[in-house]
Amino acid sequence: MKGHTFQEDGVQAVVYKGPFTVAVEEVPDARIEAPGDAVVRITTTNICGSDLHMYEGRTNVEAGKVLGHENMGIVEETGPGVAWIKPGDRVSVPFNIACGSCRNCVDGWTSFCLRMNPAEGVDGAAYGYAQMGPYQGGQAEYLRVPFADFNLLPLPAGTEYERDFTMLSDIFPTGYHGAVLAGVSPGDSVVVFGAGPVGLLAAHSSYLRGASEVYVVDMHKDRLDLAAEFDAIPVNAADSDPAEQIMDATRGLGADRGIEAVGYQAHDDTGQEHPEMVLDGLIKSVRARGRIGVVGVYVPSDPQAASENAQQGRIGFDYGTFFQKGQAMGTGQCPVKRYNHQLRDLIIAGRATPSQLVSHELPLTEAPGAYEKFDRREDGFTKVLLHPANA
Ligand code: NAD
Ligand code: ZN
Repeated sequence: MKGHTFQEDGVQAVVYKGPFTVAVEEVPDARIEAPGDAVVRITTTNICGSDLHMYEGRTNVEAGKVLGHENMGIVEETGPGVAWIKPGDRVSVPFNIACGSCRNCVDGWTSFCLRMNPAEGVDGAAYGYAQMGPYQGGQAEYLRVPFADFNLLPLPAGTEYERDFTMLSDIFPTGYHGAVLAGVSPGDSVVVFGAGPVGLLAAHSSYLRGASEVYVVDMHKDRLDLAAEFDAIPVNAADSDPAEQIMDATRGLGADRGIEAVGYQAHDDTGQEHPEMVLDGLIKSVRARGRIGVVGVYVPSDPQAASENAQQGRIGFDYGTFFQKGQAMGTGQCPVKRYNHQLRDLIIAGRATPSQLVSHELPLTEAPGAYEKFDRREDGFTKVLLHPANA
């Protein structure tokens, strides 16, 4: 089905050039390459904390890659094998690219699709991301989406809830996944490390699952204030050991559940990285038999890590205490499709408001400055939404 006029001169996109440099450049337009593909005109695309790992040169992403895995827009064209999605549909694009028919996809684990990533030994693919396959990102005017019928989530037509729906491609399901991996159930107390977008939506999701109280740990005052806006109890790691603050607040018992929303670049309040410090903090502040959900990213190879072990993904956390307390840990990339339609309907029903954390809406052309300020976690730069010129 035709609708998209292929732009021979190319289209504008955010391109990774090298550490701490992205540029808005002309790149080849998206086109139908396989029968199941769709081309989506991007209306909103977000910068993610995950993009910063690449921006800081802490991945092996190649120069020239178009970034952007948090995408939504309007379908412009579909391949001959697409039966249900139609040009004109408003859609959210999960960051996972999944075939829909391998064993892991059929089980609902699209984040570990066995087919879409050609890299040896890596299951799971994504748009515009290191190690996640040859796919270009959506911080661009148009995006090619493989297996569109399976991957795309239909949204109500129009422009309503754009700022909420744009969180459905990644961080809202990811925050929710953290709560699921931690086993958050009605009445639970929960501690979330990290008050970035993922941590804030892990807190929001924990309340949606019935938590009685949620603590959120960070050292950035502006982000802790946002946590309070999501009804969480802010814990400032710059004041004193956050795990001890949680133990005091829970009468020495510890929280029932813990969520890791920081990742391998965890650091102290001077900026010095200690990749084990958040895992240790969770093991200390979650009660015996409690579960911990880790959605902050850890990687098997990090050549620029401070220690030789961490360079090989060997994170020396307190496994002894973890075992002694009989705790359990769930990890990994979020299978967005498992949760995105339920979270969409909670938004429409007015029960979920992930847009509360949006700090900036900018034209795509302003991406380079936005990356720089978001990377410095500059005051007020929490979540940046980008709009291409033709949005
Ligand atoms: P972000 O970088 O904006 O947020 C991370 C927050 O952690 C920051 O506010 C930072 O101050 C805080 N932090 C750092 N060290 C800390 C410490 N020792 N104690 C407490 N807080 C600390 O990023 P984000 O967008 O919220 O993403 C968070 C993590 O989730 C990243 O690692 C990202 O790659 C990952 N992520 C994972 C998935 C998935 O599918 N599993 C999806 C999206 C993002
Ligand atoms: Zn993301």
